[in-house]
Formats: sequence, structure tokens, C-alpha cells
Amino acid sequence: MASNRTFTMIKPEAVAAGHAGKILDMIMANGFRVVSLKYTRISHHEAGAFYEVHKERPFYGELVDYMASGPTYVAILEKENAVEDFRKLIGATDPANAEEGTIRKRFAESKAKNAVHGSDSNENALIEGHFFFSTREQH
Ligand code: ADP
Ligand code: MG
Repeated sequence: MASNRTFTMIKPEAVAAGHAGKILDMIMANGFRVVSLKYTRISHHEAGAFYEVHKERPFYGELVDYMASGPTYVAILEKENAVEDFRKLIGATDPANAEEGTIRKRFAESKAKNAVHGSDSNENALIEGHFFFSTREQH
């Protein structure tokens, strides 16, 4: 089950720019089923915990400030090979390196403000999904 799911966030700058609908449309058009979805704003404390793995990286403070700076859409998605296929759909972290047709190529502003999050492993997809959704909210 877990290997068929991934977790995503539409990040604050993409929401503020009005891109959320188009991004969700691209996600669904590429065969991902929405298991859970909510519109939420995470606190600074929650953003710090969510990105704990990046604590030692130089951009951690900037990343936490940014993710708490405005509302986001957070979602659990389902598809065969979900984690890997979703990473392909979003493209490289830096939009300058993202392939044509990817979400980041189309919508990201910069390496930091890169429109969407995508889990990097099945294990993290599960952890990240449970960070935002109870089992009662996963269908
Ligand atoms: P990804 O989101 O592609 O998995 P990482 O896990 O390496 O990328 O980084 C997490 C997030 O931190 C990125 O999506 C981006 O928002 C931000 N980030 C990554 N590298 C940098 C950087 N050099 N400067 C500023 N922000 C960065
Ligand atoms: Mg990552």
C-alpha cells in the first residue's frame, strides 16, 4: 500500500500566484488519485519539524520561514510507483534544471521557491502523510 502513495505540498508562493488549480489538474491528469487533500497554513514550529532532515543545511532557516509564510495545499496521492513517478512529474529541485513539461519547469520561481514538494522515499511518504492526515482522512 505505502509503495503506491506519495505526499505533496503546493508551496506558498505557487498558491499566492494562483497556480494551485492548474497544478492539481496536472497531478490528476498524470494519473494520480487524491487520497487526502487540505488547505492549511503550517506554523513555523511545524515547518521546522517537517524539514528536520535538512536542519544542518545552510538554507534550513530560509526554508522554514518560507514554508510558514502562507497557506499551502497538502495532499496524499496514489498511483503505481507513486514516489518515483511524482518526482519525475515535478522535475529537478532547481527549475533551471527541470525538464520541459514538469510542474517545476512551468511554475517554480527559483530553487528555493520551487512550487511543490514531493516525497523522496516510500518511508518518508508515509511519515509526511501522517504528519498532516489522520487515517480517518485518507480514502
Ligand atoms: P527537493 O524538494 O527537490 O526534494 P531538497 O529535499 O534537496 O529538494 O530540498 C528541500 C527544499 O529546500 C527544496 O524543495 C527547496 O524549496 C529548498 N532548497 C533546496 N536547496 C536550496 C538552496 N540551495 N537554497 C535555498 N533553498 C533550497
Ligand atoms: Mg526532498
